[in-house]
Amino acid sequence: MNCRHCGSALRCDFLDLGFAPPSNAYLTAEDLSKPELYFPLRLKVCEECWLVQTEDYASAESLFSADYAYFSSASKGWLAHAARYVETITKRLGLGQKSMVVEIASNDGYLLKNFVAAGIPCLGIEPTASTAEAAEALGIPVRREFFGEALGKALAEEGKSADLILGNNVYAHVPDINDFTRGMKAALKPGGTITLEFPHVMRLIEENQFDTVYHEHFSYLSLYTARKIFGSAGLRVFDVEELPTHGGSLRVYGCHADDPRETTDAVTTLLAEEERRGLRTSALYAQFQARAEQVKNDALAFLLEAKREGKTVAAYGAAAKGNTLLNFAGVKPDLLPFVCDAAAAKQNKFMPGSHIPILHPDTIIERRPDYVMILPWNIAAEVRQQLASLAEQGTRFVTAVPRLQIA
Ligand SMILES: [Zn+2]
Repeated sequence: MNCRHCGSALRCDFLDLGFAPPSNAYLTAEDLSKPELYFPLRLKVCEECWLVQTEDYASAESLFSADYAYFSSASKGWLAHAARYVETITKRLGLGQKSMVVEIASNDGYLLKNFVAAGIPCLGIEPTASTAEAAEALGIPVRREFFGEALGKALAEEGKSADLILGNNVYAHVPDINDFTRGMKAALKPGGTITLEFPHVMRLIEENQFDTVYHEHFSYLSLYTARKIFGSAGLRVFDVEELPTHGGSLRVYGCHADDPRETTDAVTTLLAEEERRGLRTSALYAQFQARAEQVKNDALAFLLEAKREGKTVAAYGAAAKGNTLLNFAGVKPDLLPFVCDAAAAKQNKFMPGSHIPILHPDTIIERRPDYVMILPWNIAAEVRQQLASLAEQGTRFVTAVPRLQIA
């Protein structure tokens, strides 16, 4: 296999999580009596451009994006993050009624609704019908298509070039990252700005976040690599911020390569930091498998011990992360009988692979388990707050990543 960005042969292994079904392939009760498709879940790193990437599998890509059940608005913390971003970027770029904002993967309109409220013209790009409908109901125009060079050029031809193109948690999820980047180049006005948020591979490695790996998440990016990909499409990263979201993300700011804006010190400093931490050495990537196994083994040992002691355990958050951890650890409903999630689209379905039933959050309050394992550890504080009444009655909260914690 060759690197999806630079085409070099991939020789360096990063992580092998065995076989797993697509993490968003939630199952209905009828599905449980049918066979389930598993794909290898393995990552490699390119020693030329240092792009960490999933291995290719025979024509499985369409499967990985089918029937996507994630609604961004389900997380209050994420809504607040989006509202703050819109306020800041509007001021920084001086956006107004004559501007054009394009969000790629606009989901249910969780972010663009803030631009609508401010009277700033915007367009969402979102191929998933259920979330696109939710956005349209908020008055947001949506193109129900996948983004790439073809759509970028079409937008430019239709006079919909953007002053701001933004994408949150989409850049790492596209199979053809070069085509996507060329699309942004084509749809960006002269003087326009791109902002992309994606999990920082430096944090993934340092915080043992192997559970953020799943088939739909094709790329794991450093600033160094993002900058290289931008550069190859005639774009330039001119600023960067480190964000706490999703366990540690980057927000990169891009412009046309010939834009007069100077590249900030933040870019130079973070590039140096990545180099200091070994992100451009094979050795750093080669030691990650052992750390992932340690975290998995500790989580599994906790569940086995709780079972032996006759304690009850439930999980909160039917997130992709949870599926990766549970499938790597081989956990089934005997050890973890149910998981609760606030998203109505997931309730009364079953987690792929583990077949753990997904129930309404009221169930966890009613059943008062001894332990609640919070699978999306990035929103653990928010979940603990929601379930504060359980803590008062003696329930303890467990997170597995970066290491097992029982609070
Ligand atoms: Zn490469």
